Amino acid sequence: MPRVLIAGCQQEISSFNPVICNYGFFTKTWGDEIVDGNRGQNTEVGGAIEALEQVPGMVLVPTYNAGAGSGGPLEHQSFLRIAHEFEEAIQPHAGNVDGVFLHFHGSMGTTEELDPEGYLIERARAILGEEIPFVFTGDIHGVTTARMLRHADGMAIYHTYPHTDFADTGRRAATQLVRMLEGGVKPVIARAVVPALVRGNELITETGLFGTQVRFAKSLYDNPKVLNAGMQIGNPFTDVPEVCSQAIVITDGDKELARESALKMAREFWPNRAKMQGVFTGLEESVREAASLDGPIAFTDASDAPSSGSPGDSNAIIAEVVRQGQSYSVLAPIVDRPVAAKAHELGIGATFKSTVGGKSDPRFVPLELELTVKSLYEGDGFPLETWGGHEDPGPTAVLEAGNLTLVVHSNPINLVDRALFLANGLDPKDFHATVVKSPHCEPQFFDDYVTCNFNVDAPGSTSANLPTLGHVNVKRPIYPLDYDAEYNGEVEIYSRG
Ligand SMILES: [Zn+2]
Repeated sequence: MPRVLIAGCQQEISSFNPVICNYGFFTKTWGDEIVDGNRGQNTEVGGAIEALEQVPGMVLVPTYNAGAGSGGPLEHQSFLRIAHEFEEAIQPHAGNVDGVFLHFHGSMGTTEELDPEGYLIERARAILGEEIPFVFTGDIHGVTTARMLRHADGMAIYHTYPHTDFADTGRRAATQLVRMLEGGVKPVIARAVVPALVRGNELITETGLFGTQVRFAKSLYDNPKVLNAGMQIGNPFTDVPEVCSQAIVITDGDKELARESALKMAREFWPNRAKMQGVFTGLEESVREAASLDGPIAFTDASDAPSSGSPGDSNAIIAEVVRQGQSYSVLAPIVDRPVAAKAHELGIGATFKSTVGGKSDPRFVPLELELTVKSLYEGDGFPLETWGGHEDPGPTAVLEAGNLTLVVHSNPINLVDRALFLANGLDPKDFHATVVKSPHCEPQFFDDYVTCNFNVDAPGSTSANLPTLGHVNVKRPIYPLDYDAEYNGEVEIYSRG
């Protein structure tokens, strides 16, 4: 009876977010909790369970998972505590499992370790042995490193952005594991690293240029020799040495097929690098132009997208609305724990003066406003419209300051749809303008009804205007930080056989 160990650790960080996150940021689950929480769900582990349980007599050995929302770099001691828990949980199974499934995102970073997932897989390998197959999963925005691939036999990458294929990705990784457990499969991994960081609408896999690479990767699965294939674009805000775009193809023993397939994806991706960058409207211009348009409009503030790792407390757009004296109604989410607490203390109807937002990142200046408490959020969280799950905004209040309606919350949460607004009884359609702190949302939430969605070139730790961020760790040269970067067509090969 085959026994497969399941473990994982996921976070995505922006190295440019000055708010360091810690152990408490992570939700930890142990043992059977992991299977119970994922079975039948659209999650990587959910898909893996489904694929693994196709095998008669399969015994799942769930051990440890630590997952967190996006944020700033993880305090290193917190990471070591997580790594210690991970090791303690898998140690008792050394010598007693036949395969390993690891659920990673791939874009972690600590204040000292710039390849945390590589560290974890290396430790797992040392504990569980060199001989058994290891597979892992990665987000399209993950950063797969040479160290991760040296210790793995395979991996699967999302084929969707915006992401929807979580379970399918787990299923693809686990299917490779099952094939290896059945015997006779000798994986060869080809990795083609493209020195380009990319952002923008062309990365939407259904409609954008990047869809060409993803469709090709998907087509490769028709060949039974192909075990897994995909392309990562990294998270450009995770400033680690190996952040890049990369095509990864894993075949059963066919080095040339793996190499050629990865190279084809990389070569066809490279000429599109300039088109796969953010296209912006200036902050001042966006705010001014919005006044002359029929609403509703959206101000996309991807520079402060908590789902990409920013603190969520940018007030750049509302400050510009105030500075220009614009009178149109604006709905905006903003993280400010002290202001939310003050509103809860004073109660509905109270009016107080306070600065709002801009407290955690020196790119911003706290904005002084006179605020009226319109409503208080008393719940303990809600699922996203997009992905389900559970988002806990902490103490939250709807505050009005003239034409501004602010949803002031305490914790940075994913703002990829309308969930925070709806939970507070607000409909973005009732406002002339809504600040949307996510690079892309499913069209039904905003794009389908707004007359204009400005991609605002606001400052912030997840600005798609990448050269403005100040990378120091990424391997150079890389486009667009270095306009003269070149792709040399090199392909790395990894094989444990
Ligand atoms: Zn992603």
